[in-house]
Amino acid sequence: MREDFWSKADYDLLIRLYREGMTTADIARELGRSPAAVATKGSRIGLYALTREELSGPRVSVRDCINPVGPHPFVSPGIHNRTCTECKRSAIFQAA
Ligand SMILES: [Zn+2]
Repeated sequence: MREDFWSKADYDLLIRLYREGMTTADIARELGRSPAAVATKGSRIGLYALTREELSGPRVSVRDCINPVGPHPFVSPGIHNRTCTECKRSAIFQAA
């Protein structure tokens, strides 16, 4: 079971398999990680918050959120989208 750093390739695979409708358990097996790790990571990058419509877009990808305090990867529905929903809502980002 892998517990190391998630590379962009790992995120891309997670997103692709999720878009294909695979379950968390199946995705975990493909990635060689625990289902809990997949669930946590998917939730952290906002994967499960996206609608089916957003997910089916041709430009869905992992991008770096430009949060000035702590840039981090998130699932972005398009190249124009460089800030995750959570940071958009946060006071820290609004004040920056
Ligand atoms: Zn963010």
